[in-house]
Amino acid sequence: MAHGMKIPWWQWLPFRRWRVIGAVESADEIPAQLPKNAAVVVASGGPPKWISFDCPCGAGHRVLLNTDQGRRPAWSVTQPPKGGLSIAPSVDFHDGHRRCHYFVRDGRIIWAKDRYDERL
Ligand SMILES: [Zn+2]
Repeated sequence: MAHGMKIPWWQWLPFRRWRVIGAVESADEIPAQLPKNAAVVVASGGPPKWISFDCPCGAGHRVLLNTDQGRRPAWSVTQPPKGGLSIAPSVDFHDGHRRCHYFVRDGRIIWAKDRYDERL
């Protein structure tokens, strides 16, 4: 596990809703293991440049999205103090075998109808 970010023990409790649990200064400090339904942002003093989390499909792959609005494509990330994480636009991951396409809205995953997994 990277030493850049320490996750308090209570953060390892499973979250019912997706949320950002912390920030690191560079992408290589993103912890290899993240709690369930948890995301981490990469930010060095300014607005977040990336958001990273484990894909909700459960296949165990990591998702990394650009949140720097100066580079495209870019996603916007919002999380009100007592609310869940929202990411816009939708997350659309392809790797040739699977497509994971979903919306993250107020901490919940809403799957798009065009997701598929060739291994199923
Ligand atoms: Zn996935």
